[in-house]
Amino acid sequence: MRLLSLEIDGFKSFAHKTVIKFQPGMTGIIGPNGSGKSNIIEAIRWVMGEQSAKTLRGGKMVDVIFNGSKDHHPLNRALVKITLDNSDHYLQSDFSEITVTRKLYRNGDSEYLINDRQVRLKDVVDLFMDSGIGRESFSIISQGRVAAVFNGQPSDRRQIIETVAGVAKYKANKQTAQKR
Ligand code: ATP
Ligand code: MG
Repeated sequence: MRLLSLEIDGFKSFAHKTVIKFQPGMTGIIGPNGSGKSNIIEAIRWVMGEQSAKTLRGGKMVDVIFNGSKDHHPLNRALVKITLDNSDHYLQSDFSEITVTRKLYRNGDSEYLINDRQVRLKDVVDLFMDSGIGRESFSIISQGRVAAVFNGQPSDRRQIIETVAGVAKYKANKQTAQKR
């Protein structure tokens, strides 16, 4: 499984539709301060279901929508789409290529799509849960997160170990079942 491409349109500093294609191997992103490198990583986090505006350095979730610059008016919608090569079926899906799309409008409406079919946020989260990627994973590590692992409560560390070990999904399912 690997990331094939990323489309960003109206998300943060990306006023125009931008498509980044990833080649096999390692990719580095370079650019001046404030040019949008971190916004690219946040777009990936967001499309995989991130619900914390704070994690995305904003106050409210609608802050991720392009809010205008000196030569471009603000936009009404943010869209991020990732395309993954799943020919090894690493993600539990019959599809060998998977696209995940997330859209957010200024009025707060949001949409999630898997392979262009409308789904719930839960479906997106489930797709990535225990895969080692996804919004709760450790494949994207910010500076603050490193300190949190070392300085955290034992219960927080246990949660991290459970996520890494792949049991978090079963725990979440159990909790949902017990609520019913
Ligand atoms: P550094 O090298 O300093 O880490 P960077 O390349 O990671 O910089 P980012 O933090 O990704 O840069 O981008 C910051 C820019 O994104 C700022 O100019 C900020 O104004 C812009 N930005 C963030 N949110 C929005 C938004 N909703 N609309 C328009 N621009 C935005
Ligand atoms: Mg940065």
